[in-house]
Amino acid sequence: MKIRYCWRCRMDVPMLDKQEGEIASKLFAEGFQEIKNSQKVPFKQNFKKLLDYYNDLTGFEETNPNAIMHHFIEMYGPDCENCGKPYRTETATFCPKCGNKRKL
Ligand SMILES: [Zn+2]
Ligand SMILES: [Zn+2]
Repeated sequence: MKIRYCWRCRMDVPMLDKQEGEIASKLFAEGFQEIKNSQKVPFKQNFKKLLDYYNDLTGFEETNPNAIMHHFIEMYGPDCENCGKPYRTETATFCPKCGNKRKL
């Protein structure tokens, strides 16, 4: 787990590394499975395992399971050499935050 800036949330959030992301994806899939099996359980309750996992790991109080699914370190590029915000993708050529041109 690492705190990184999320372009979608526009704030620093705890992002999951590869191994943690795999566990989170699995719990997310299980949450969907539970929705299929029981229509009456509220959405959040189905993803309680995922939210608990993420919140225990990060100390964050995330309530939206969908937000966790884009908080994977691997989905973004490395940190900008100038401002430290992550590039939006692995292949991005400039930083949208400070305009720094990436040295590839
Ligand atoms: Zn986000
Ligand atoms: Zn930058």
